Amino acid sequence: MTQAEPVEAIPQPRPTVDATPRAGQPYEYRRRPLVEPDWTRFPGWTHVTRDMWESAQWQRVHCVKNIKQLRAVLGDLVDETFYADLAEDQANTATMSMLVPPQMINTMVPDGPVTTEAFYTDPVRRYMIPVASDRRTDWASHPYSARDSLHEHDMWVAEGLTHRYPTKVLAELLSTCPQYCGHCTRMDLVGNSTPAVDKLKLTLKPVDRYEAHITYLKAHPGVRDVVVSGGDVANVPWKNLESYLMSLLSIDTIRDIRLATKALMGLPQHWLQHDVVEGLERVARTASRRGVNLAIHTHVNHANSITPLVAKAAQTALEVGVRDVRNQGVLMRGVNATAPELLDLCFALQGEAGILPYYFYMCDMIPNAEHWRVAVWQAQQLQHDLMGYLPGYATPRIVCDVPFVGKRWVHMLTEYDRERGISYWTKNYRTSIEAASGEDVLAKRHPYYDPIDTLPDAGKAWWSAQA
Ligand code: SF4
Repeated sequence: MTQAEPVEAIPQPRPTVDATPRAGQPYEYRRRPLVEPDWTRFPGWTHVTRDMWESAQWQRVHCVKNIKQLRAVLGDLVDETFYADLAEDQANTATMSMLVPPQMINTMVPDGPVTTEAFYTDPVRRYMIPVASDRRTDWASHPYSARDSLHEHDMWVAEGLTHRYPTKVLAELLSTCPQYCGHCTRMDLVGNSTPAVDKLKLTLKPVDRYEAHITYLKAHPGVRDVVVSGGDVANVPWKNLESYLMSLLSIDTIRDIRLATKALMGLPQHWLQHDVVEGLERVARTASRRGVNLAIHTHVNHANSITPLVAKAAQTALEVGVRDVRNQGVLMRGVNATAPELLDLCFALQGEAGILPYYFYMCDMIPNAEHWRVAVWQAQQLQHDLMGYLPGYATPRIVCDVPFVGKRWVHMLTEYDRERGISYWTKNYRTSIEAASGEDVLAKRHPYYDPIDTLPDAGKAWWSAQA
């Protein structure tokens, strides 16, 4: 990178958000064109050209991995209190190490001057660069929180292959991503160890892991749907990913393949590289010939993250034959847990980027996540408030991933103790670890827990007495 390169084609300022009072309707839709925020507003990127910005390699090399690098980007726009707060979180509570591509940092405080206060309150910052003062001091973790809260590792049938639902598997090809989210549900496995979490390690060579997956899937024709994930498939060298996908496509019982990649938003430059686009086209053509539904599932949590480059990456995938690009966001307080925020995001996805707003998951019960999690009744209210604005097929379902059960729509609980914040759920299938058990798991009620700070005083007192 040369410091002296001229700056060219700097993006235009974002149009101001329509400030018309939202009278009459709880939510007033206005189309908002996508804009790539001007990255040269950050002192560390004043020299960065459009060519540099649009290079996947430049983005990867300039990912922010530590406080020193963040300071080099932000300079003195953000004061020392913020960096000290961040250092405290990293030393004591963070479950994920820091890794944020420039593309994502550029969607923080996109509209106004970058100040300490604006950076603190930014929704994307709140989940990508969490600080100690974000976390709760009363109930930072729920007593039933767990590292592998969904027991995916317990359900491995081969290294990285989780067989939870009867007809579907989750294939974790690797344990890294181009970006690390503070709330990652796979914090047990994904990313580098932090002072608070010593991560589980994959031990097989990738080639042996992939072969074990394919062998299992050939031997289990009842599995028809494979979520190819990690980590993030954008970190699998394309040649290896294509070879894995072609192996899946050679198994005639596999009918759905979904590629999980937050990088479509966090690093859209990756999905716009020529070799990746050409490779994706080969895979999509093969899938189409064999009648297999090939889709990309991404993970966007806020409307500010949808920029023209993200829309271009999604539309390119559709153009080369991927059948659908869908979003699975995570519902988080301080980030998107209001109906207008969710609707703004859904309209940006559906109307501007060609990405189907598919699911919002409730944030899982991992340690130190209580400040993000919402209660089931809050999620039910949000689902209610989303109805009727988007086309029916593009109205997202808010789901709770109940440990040992799986995804349930948030209204599907069978019983709910609002005082103690315990909901009970049932299921209609056995997971791989229950298949041989004599226990009647189909009759069992499985609990899920609301954040304790959302409970009435009597409920809080009950949990304090348990502790
Ligand atoms: S991209 Fe997905 S797997 Fe990777 S850190 Fe974020 S939530 Fe976890």
